[in-house]
Amino acid sequence: MDPKRLSYSLSESHLSTSLFRISPLRGFLLPLLLAVIFLFGNVSLQADTSSFERSIGGFSDDTLHLERISFVPRSDGMGYVIRFHQSARLDSFSLIQPASDLIQLEFFHSNIDTLGIQFPTYNEDVQEVRLYKLENSYGVDIYLGQQLQVISNAYPDMKSKDILVALTYSATREVELFTQQFLARNWYLSLNLDNSLEIIAPTSPSQANLDQEYEQVKGKLRFDTVIIDPGHGGDDPGNIGYRNIEEKSVVLSISKKLGSYIEEYLPDVKVIYTRETDRYVDLEERGSIANRAEGDLFISIHADGWTSSSVYGSSVFFLGLHRSDAAFEVMKRENSVFTAHSEELFNLTEEDLLIYELAHSGYIATSERIAYMIEDQFRTRANRKSRGVKQAGFVVLYQASMPAVLIETGFLSNPAEQRFLTSDYGQSIIASAIFRAIRDYKIEYEKNQN
Ligand SMILES: [Zn+2]
Repeated sequence: MDPKRLSYSLSESHLSTSLFRISPLRGFLLPLLLAVIFLFGNVSLQADTSSFERSIGGFSDDTLHLERISFVPRSDGMGYVIRFHQSARLDSFSLIQPASDLIQLEFFHSNIDTLGIQFPTYNEDVQEVRLYKLENSYGVDIYLGQQLQVISNAYPDMKSKDILVALTYSATREVELFTQQFLARNWYLSLNLDNSLEIIAPTSPSQANLDQEYEQVKGKLRFDTVIIDPGHGGDDPGNIGYRNIEEKSVVLSISKKLGSYIEEYLPDVKVIYTRETDRYVDLEERGSIANRAEGDLFISIHADGWTSSSVYGSSVFFLGLHRSDAAFEVMKRENSVFTAHSEELFNLTEEDLLIYELAHSGYIATSERIAYMIEDQFRTRANRKSRGVKQAGFVVLYQASMPAVLIETGFLSNPAEQRFLTSDYGQSIIASAIFRAIRDYKIEYEKNQN
């Protein structure tokens, strides 16, 4: 590695968060991050490189397959996230943005393989990604639309080996100031005299290759595993309702009904439970179970409780910054139950959630879509009072790397709703409403993949 380059090592899992955690100011995170980038950009310019570089650590001889490049709008509406899907972590990488419409990255790894790489379907904002095989690295050009005014940043995804490039809408003047500090790299000049430059461009693979690739990815395109997470359990009873009904037993019954409907009516979908008995499973383990099973959807089932017995109705949550005080209250109740077991898991900061939103834009959009489908079933078919779809920072959803929702099926503190939720009839209605939403989503998902 060129010693003149500004490089700083950070531990893998905390690389992106550490930028945030140095700040005592909450709520000004994105501007702060940009200021940090700006600062490093300036420093690196003085170091005669016009780039900043991150060493991720752990040099490896394993081949890194750069499999796919994709991009999605950010869930917070603030721009885009471009993802480089990789089979292994890079040793390090750098990012510069020498013009409003050009981002350049350099990927360092001893052995990068781009055979069969899939490029995204471009739009007017993200117009083209080009790769250049250099002697000891890969150069990447990302061409953006000229109307797009964004500032870029790159960081490794915490939950995969991918590299994420976040584009953040910014004022024209800010973009000018940001881009001024960088000089565009000419990849052709980075070459030694031998002709080791190879431009990786979309080719037209033969039909046989396409078929083979399709076979390989077909499994991933199917919606075939649902994780059902009955909340609480063991010495964590959850909310205690009217007549001392415990949330943990109500939600286990509903979960099992849901699972049996899926197994009966969607036989190609595998059901994995995070618990099937009255036992305690911590939040991290619930997420690990889901991730190990490579679930397509994570559904956490709960029942609410409140000091006033007149409050009733169901809510569906997906993960993100809480947008309302009511959502924050529910989140505190569901997260706080676990503090007796694992204190540190309770600390989902705004920074964590912001980074999650950046890294998981695709999951969040999907989670929101499913949340609305479930809410619609509750309201129209199950005839429940809907308290709406909300976004909040549930720890259990944070752990699962897949679309995930948390359902508050109703209030055990309300006598009528408690009777409904503890009856076989009521549990069947709730479970079948969730089932229909999953079935409809599966149909929609598989249609979109083909
Ligand atoms: Zn709960």
